[in-house]
Amino acid sequence: MHETKIPFGERDGILFRAHEVENGLRCGCVCPGCQQPLNAANNGEKVIPHFRHAKSNDCFDGFREGVRRAAVALIAQHKQLMLPALIETVRVATQGGRLLEKKIELQPVVTTADSVERFVDLDGLRCHAVLHQSDRQLIIRIKLSARTEYERYRQLEALEHSSMEIALHNLTLEQINDPASFERAVLYDPATRRWIRSMRGEKLMAIVGEKLESLASELNAQWHFEQLKREVAEKARQLALDEEKAKLQLALDEHRAHQLQKASEQPPIDQDNTVKGRAALIAGTMLKAVQAWGAKAIECSACHLLSPPESQFCLYCDSQTSKVNQVVLSPDIIWTLGKRMRCSAKPEMSVKAAPQLIVRPDIELV
Ligand SMILES: [Zn+2]
Ligand SMILES: [Zn+2]
Repeated sequence: MHETKIPFGERDGILFRAHEVENGLRCGCVCPGCQQPLNAANNGEKVIPHFRHAKSNDCFDGFREGVRRAAVALIAQHKQLMLPALIETVRVATQGGRLLEKKIELQPVVTTADSVERFVDLDGLRCHAVLHQSDRQLIIRIKLSARTEYERYRQLEALEHSSMEIALHNLTLEQINDPASFERAVLYDPATRRWIRSMRGEKLMAIVGEKLESLASELNAQWHFEQLKREVAEKARQLALDEEKAKLQLALDEHRAHQLQKASEQPPIDQDNTVKGRAALIAGTMLKAVQAWGAKAIECSACHLLSPPESQFCLYCDSQTSKVNQVVLSPDIIWTLGKRMRCSAKPEMSVKAAPQLIVRPDIELV
């Protein structure tokens, strides 16, 4: 529709809306795109005034050229327009994994230019208007097609000037025909404009970025310090652990020597290493615990024999898997010992984990 209904006709270099001229070919206007004669349609209540090419041709520029030139003329006439809003977030990551963020927000404000240049070529780039304000320039692009002009924007972003876009491709013929709403859309409506590059925004972001960087470096230093402290503590913990392990090994070595000494002092009797024989030994150490050690003992997790409560290791076996657990026995266990051993799995487990004992328990066999 935009391509066939043309909102502005040109006569003697001046743009007219269709309702401002005579109907039909008498309007005396040409197309702002191809300079071919136009036909004004401004008769009848249902018709929104517009122009059409008098003879159909393949020109699609009538709408774009007219609206663009009318918009630039407004800007040149008023030397004033609303700047777009700017919302950006500056982010800086710390070494500790935190993300420092600060939002920058510039509200839309009206700016006034000293002068306005129309249709300027800057490094081969067609700028629709350039606003001059003391030593600063603001480049304006009037957007009249729905597609994004990535290449143009890339070129504009490379220039050391602020640049903004005013998008007018969504305006209806009625909005364009109404001078007040057209003026609002071109000069003031925050919804039609956005920054391509904002030098002021960039300066602000640089300042905020510097502040965040300095905060980040403070946090990084603190983090490094904490990290160092963690490393030192970890090293100390590891050292203490190693020391503990060495101590334990030393105690175990001493214990093994003690076991061998004790074994050499025992009369050489053949060990009964059957399950039944082991059951008798376990029961014997239980009895001894009740009678001689105040019903307290430590139980070996490998051979299941009981050693005196103050022992650090199992007195009898040298099983690698041996751990000792404190146990408290019920004194009346004596009466049920035989029965207990018969239905216990411990004697069998004992023979399996420690087939040969280093030291024989010093007990009366029951
Ligand atoms: Zn045309
Ligand atoms: Zn043991």
